[in-house]
Amino acid sequence: MEFEPVIGLEIHVQMDTKTKMFCACPVEFGAEPNTNVCPVCLGLPGSLPVINKRAVEFAVRAALALNCKINTRSLFARKNYFYPDLPKGYQISQYEEPLAVDGWLEVENKKVRIRRLHIEEDAGKNIHEGSKTFVDLNRAGTPLMEIVTEPDIDSPQMAREFLEKLRNIMRYTGVSRADMEKGQLRCDINLSIRPKGSKELGTRVEIKNVNSFRFVQKAIEAEMERQIKLILSGEKVVQETRTFDPSTGLTHPMRTKEEAEDYRYFPDPDLLPLVLSEQWIEEIRKSMPELPEQRYERFVRDYRLEAYSAKVLTDNKELGDFFEESLKYYDQDPQLTANWLLNDLLGNLSEVSKDIESSPVNPKALAELVRLIKEGVLSSKLAKEVLKVMVSTGKEPLQVVEEKGLRQVSDEATIKGMIEEVLKENAKEVERYRSGEEKVFGFLVGQVMKKAKGKANPQLVNKLLREMLAT
Ligand code: ADP
Ligand code: MG
Ligand code: ZN
Repeated sequence: MEFEPVIGLEIHVQMDTKTKMFCACPVEFGAEPNTNVCPVCLGLPGSLPVINKRAVEFAVRAALALNCKINTRSLFARKNYFYPDLPKGYQISQYEEPLAVDGWLEVENKKVRIRRLHIEEDAGKNIHEGSKTFVDLNRAGTPLMEIVTEPDIDSPQMAREFLEKLRNIMRYTGVSRADMEKGQLRCDINLSIRPKGSKELGTRVEIKNVNSFRFVQKAIEAEMERQIKLILSGEKVVQETRTFDPSTGLTHPMRTKEEAEDYRYFPDPDLLPLVLSEQWIEEIRKSMPELPEQRYERFVRDYRLEAYSAKVLTDNKELGDFFEESLKYYDQDPQLTANWLLNDLLGNLSEVSKDIESSPVNPKALAELVRLIKEGVLSSKLAKEVLKVMVSTGKEPLQVVEEKGLRQVSDEATIKGMIEEVLKENAKEVERYRSGEEKVFGFLVGQVMKKAKGKANPQLVNKLLREMLAT
């Protein structure tokens, strides 16, 4: 019997605002513990929350990018539970009337429906050190968005692609850096399996807080295997919450449904309903930036890029920005620019543990390099050498070319002179070529290049050698 997974995701995204969701404390990573706090986020009696308008705007932007319907009226609710890092004893969230509903995102040509998107606040952090636990409340009250999908995802790979796409959208809209490693994007996975083709849903397991794209895929694979084994051996999957342990690659139980919390949600009496005007939503809609998919289509259409290059360049906003900036200086061959950026520059950068944002080679320098290649000053072999020096020194390509004497020889008279010598020195081979041995041609090209120490323009050598052999 064949099985298929059914996957729904619950995702938390930290919104990139300057201040917290309901107070003016700064949102800042790595600050001295318990310094960015105030009576509101500490939950002191008598303090009152005030909604952060910027956070609402970000959530609306994200919701629009995810094709959601925005509710012009939504409600903040208290989600009650006790935990040391939750000083109020409840988390302000949205429950029955969320900010947005009924969206979708297309992955692998399938629509993943988004059930809801709502605003909430983050809790603080417990820091365990040996037998002690410390509480840092700097994070308490940080604006979050929760996004819940319908169970429309049908493979580990698709779950990963969904999340990567979501991250890209968050970056493009400026809502969040959405770095999983930094906890700015966190994901709970809901997973059940069923016989392939069946329409019924099996019992689901929730896997909490997996913290990288790779682990999401791995956790799903491991959990699928566990559930399939259970069913094949006649046992039942129990509805429970599990965690994924990256060191073993397995999931472990955390709590069962019986132990699941009852949050006793109720509307927060300190906050009025959040009412948004159609006009404000319209303003946000109009100010929406280009999204990755639109940019992809524009790159293929306007720059005639191959699908793969366009995909890589638009998946990563910084790469796409670098590429377009470079084209401002030289746009005669966008695909060539893309190739040198994606294959050569990125390769060199990763060797020195840098990325595009810390690149010593700027878009203009890349443009100049591509121009030198295109204009025949540099063969691609020489250009690779030049680029290496550019990455390690931050110098302009022309400067490197002059300093290292790497300029390609494209002067016809000089090349003709070298060819003449080669023809004289290799009379036998010339004879063989003229009697029809085509493969000797390559040997002769090699001899000319050797004489030129690799710096002769190869196209020109080919052309002139053919001509001179024909006479
Ligand atoms: P809860 O209210 O307990 O959080 P929900 O019905 O809201 O449960 O679903 C939470 C998540 O689980 C959603 O992403 C949903 O798509 C997913 N989900 C629900 N049922 C299943 C199932 N049988 N298999 C896989 N995922 C499921
Ligand atoms: Mg839930
Ligand atoms: Zn505060």
